[in-house]
Amino acid sequence: MKQLQEKILQEGKVLSADVLKVDSFLNHQIDPQLMQAIGEEFAERFRDAGITRILTIESSGIAPAVMAGLSLGVPVVFARKRKSLTLTSSLLTAEVHSFTKGETNEISVSKDYLKQEDVVLVMDDFLANGQAALGLAAIVEEAGAELAGIGIVIEKGFQAGGKLLRDRGLRIESLAILDSLENGTVQFKQEAFTK
Ligand code: 5GP
Repeated sequence: MKQLQEKILQEGKVLSADVLKVDSFLNHQIDPQLMQAIGEEFAERFRDAGITRILTIESSGIAPAVMAGLSLGVPVVFARKRKSLTLTSSLLTAEVHSFTKGETNEISVSKDYLKQEDVVLVMDDFLANGQAALGLAAIVEEAGAELAGIGIVIEKGFQAGGKLLRDRGLRIESLAILDSLENGTVQFKQEAFTK
């Protein structure tokens, strides 16, 4: 997605050969127009998949997921990383190790908002080692629902997650795929330019 790639080049900060900071439009401040375009792009790619619900994880997956949900006309559920006092109904849970924070969280979703008859699009802001996506996929499985695919805003193609998930036969749609962050420079995978 060209608009996203341009934004990454203009505003992304390469923190190391592994980590890209995009706080100015996705992870702290949010660019609503870009989020709308991102939501429409995901909706277009998954239009024929029969999606009934989107599942993401707090907090940075929520903005793109809400815009995709608006475009597809389906509700958006986010997995919580901390136990909430108001999350009193029975829960679907999974363990997720965070790449950026170096900690493991139990994520949870109320059974009220994910049902066996759902066809689910899992979404997240970044794909690194695939742990967040695998945790969300495990929650979909626990609910007995169908996982239609995984929508990622920025995939770090040089880390293991993309291959891990695709090798499991999952459909992954990433709007920007990074080939490298070496020498402080963002390099995209060429194929992503055609989208
Ligand atoms: P994974 O679970 O695939 O290893 O990591 C994905 C999660 O880690 C995402 O939810 C995202 O919040 C965070 N993450 C991983 N790599 C980066 C990165 O380079 N930049 C930012 N901003 N977040 C990242």
